[in-house]
Amino acid sequence: MTFPPLREELRGLEPYGAPQLDVPVQLNVNENPYGPSPACVADIATAVAHAATTLNRYPDREFVELRGALASYLSRDTPHGIAPEQVWAANGSNEVMLQLLQAFGGPGRSAMSFAPTYSMYPEYARDSVTEWVQGRREDDFSIDLDAAAALVREKRPAVVLLPSPNNPTGTALPPEAVGALCEAAGEGLVVVDEAYGEFRRTGVPSALELLPTYRNLVVTRTMSKAFAAAGLRLGYLAADPAICDAIRVVRLPYHLSAVTQATALAALRHAPELLGKVDELRAERDDTVAWLRAQGHQVADSDANFALFGTFPDRHAVWQGLLDRGVLIREVGPEGWLRVSIGTADEMKTFKQALTEVTEEKS
Ligand code: PMP
Repeated sequence: MTFPPLREELRGLEPYGAPQLDVPVQLNVNENPYGPSPACVADIATAVAHAATTLNRYPDREFVELRGALASYLSRDTPHGIAPEQVWAANGSNEVMLQLLQAFGGPGRSAMSFAPTYSMYPEYARDSVTEWVQGRREDDFSIDLDAAAALVREKRPAVVLLPSPNNPTGTALPPEAVGALCEAAGEGLVVVDEAYGEFRRTGVPSALELLPTYRNLVVTRTMSKAFAAAGLRLGYLAADPAICDAIRVVRLPYHLSAVTQATALAALRHAPELLGKVDELRAERDDTVAWLRAQGHQVADSDANFALFGTFPDRHAVWQGLLDRGVLIREVGPEGWLRVSIGTADEMKTFKQALTEVTEEKS
């Protein structure tokens, strides 16, 4: 037996994660580049100080107040409204989705998505001992609905993970695709991962609108992206109350700390401010996509706060060239492609300048 006595299938695997480098322009993990205002920071500090007075006690295990606040926030995106008992939350939407697989996946069951997609999905499956089934996206990164529905009917996955917009391509799913896959999934759950939902282009509705129609639909969100609170670690979902109830069986007791709950509630009180830069970031995204295309690059249509562009015969050399100029982006996606997160106007100017230099150097 080798030491440490790791599960066989985990031996030699690298932990997930992009390089965390201290460089001037960080455009690699799809964060919101704008930090909270002093007023928001002060409100969070007061809320955390209040929570600290009872830190000898465990926090509210059912995070009732936070569920209520998240339900009101989500209700803005659907005419049907969202009730607190339809909401569940955990430390990042990564944890929410792992809990979903712990509760609804497991040995003898499978989970499915369509590649290229978020590379954590197969890891949730591996960690919950769920079989992983991977369908494919088309060349333009859309999903062929008939083929996808046929695959779902054939494999009968317990959970289908559908990011909209997709990471790393930025592709949003039309509501009819979500509906068709919910029908094809039968008893299986369809999880629409809307981590980047707030960045979608006007006219693209949220899957939240479909919740009253499909009982097997789950919509996940996060405060890490548009909400400008990646450091908080707060992800959540909306679904049938029975689904939220079932997750309570697998969640660790008191998984959301008193500090997390207080911070999230304070941040939600500042929602208009924290979300205030979303329109600007969408405009910057559209501008970046147009600029990249004008330079002759291929760019995937994006409804998120990043753009996937390429293709480069040696994408690592381009990534490194940008890093040498203080710009960190992400080497991710199909071979030859690179992903850039949308930063401030100044950061995007530096990115464009650096990319121009690197590509001129290479030609
Ligand atoms: N879903 C997608 C598609 C993502 O890209 C990410 C983060 N990169 C997440 C979920 C998880 O985010 P968090 O755990 O910060 O909520």
